[in-house]
Amino acid sequence: MNQTKNVPLLDLSEQYEPIKNDIFKKFQEIFETKRFIHGPEVEGLEKETAEYCGTKFAVGVSSGSDALIIALMTEEIGHGDEVITTPFTFFATVGAISRVGAKPIFVDIDKDTFNMDVTQIEAKITPNTKAIMPVHLFGQMADMDAIMAIAKKHNLVVIEDSAQSIGGKYQSDDGTNYKSGAMGTYGCYSYFPSKNLGCMGDGGMVVTNDEAKYLKLKQMRNHGEVKRYHHQFIGGNFRIDALQAAVLRLKLPLLDAQHGGRQKNAAFYEATVKNDKVQLPVIDKKCTSIYNQYTLRTSDRASLQEHLNNKGIGNAIYYPIPLHLQECFTDLGHKKGDFPVSELACEEVLSIPIFGGLKENEVQRVVEALNSY
Ligand SMILES: *Cc1c(COP(=O)(O)O)cnc(C)c1O
Repeated sequence: MNQTKNVPLLDLSEQYEPIKNDIFKKFQEIFETKRFIHGPEVEGLEKETAEYCGTKFAVGVSSGSDALIIALMTEEIGHGDEVITTPFTFFATVGAISRVGAKPIFVDIDKDTFNMDVTQIEAKITPNTKAIMPVHLFGQMADMDAIMAIAKKHNLVVIEDSAQSIGGKYQSDDGTNYKSGAMGTYGCYSYFPSKNLGCMGDGGMVVTNDEAKYLKLKQMRNHGEVKRYHHQFIGGNFRIDALQAAVLRLKLPLLDAQHGGRQKNAAFYEATVKNDKVQLPVIDKKCTSIYNQYTLRTSDRASLQEHLNNKGIGNAIYYPIPLHLQECFTDLGHKKGDFPVSELACEEVLSIPIFGGLKENEVQRVVEALNSY
C-alpha cells in the first residue's frame, strides 16, 4: 500500500559514493606494497587527525572502545581506582573502566544536554578517584570548562569519550574554540561505521598534547614494547590497520561538509517542527554539535515511535537502559531511582534521521510526520 520508500535513519552512500574509486585505488596500492600494519597510511592519518582536532599527537588504535582502554592503561588506572562518568552513554564507556579493573562512579546527567551534570562531580571524588571520563553525547560536548577546573583542583586525569563528537566544538571561557578531545588529557574517537567519521570496519584514535603520554600510548598499542621484544609494560594489540587508515584519510577532508549537512537539517527541524508533544535537542550556547544523533524527547515514546514507523521514518532509541541498571554492573549496587534524570531520558529519547545526505523531500517528510503526531 505504502509505495514511498522509507526515510532511513542513516545511509552511508553520501560518504562513500564520491570517493569509491579512490578507495579501490588505495586498496590496490596497499595490496601491492603489502604493508598492512603500521606504515605511511597510519602515520598520515595520525598526523592529519591531530591537525584536525587541534592536538599535538594522535595514536591510531583498533576501536573507540580500545581508545578508552589504552588511555586508562597508559595512566595505569586499575584495581582500587575510581573513574567518574555518566550512566547515560554507550556501553563501551563504562565497559572500558571496568575492564581495566577500576570502579565506575556515576553522576547523573543534565536533562537538556544529556551530558554529565558537572555540579555533581565534586561530591563523588574520593582519595581513590583517578580520572573523569566525560562523554560528549550525540555530538555535543559536555561542560568542559567546569570539568577541567575540577580535574585541575583535584589533580585528576580527564579522558574525553569523543566517540560521537569528532569535530564538535566548545567555546571555552578562555576564549579558545576547542574541538572535542583537545581539552582533556586524552581524547578518544571511534571510527565505527555509524560515527560521523567512520571506516569500513573497526578503528579508533587517541589524541593528546603530552609527549610522554603519546610515547607511552604508542608502546601500549604494541604490547608495551620499547624496542623489538623488550616489553616495559603489559600493553596489547590495539593497532589500526593500514586499509582502514587509508579509507579514513580519504574521508577526513569531506567531514566538515558532512557536518554542515547535518547542521543544516537540524536548523530546518528547529525552524519547522511545531509540536508541543515533541522536544527538540537543546544545544548549549558554548557548543557546536555535529549531531551524530538528532535525539528527541517525548513523554509517550511508544506512540510517537509507532506513528513514525507508520509514516516510514527511520528511528532508534539511544539508549533504552542506563548503565547503572545493566545486569553486568549489579555488583556496583545501584538501584532504580539512583540517577533519575538518566532513567527518565532512557524512557523518553528517540533519534530521527539527520545525516547530511538526506534529500530535501525526505527532511520534509520527517517534519510532516512530527507535526502530524
Ligand atoms: C561508539 C562508542 C564507543 C565505542 O566505539 P567502538 O569503536 O564501537 O568500540 C564508545 N563510546 C561511545 C559514547 C560511543 O558512542
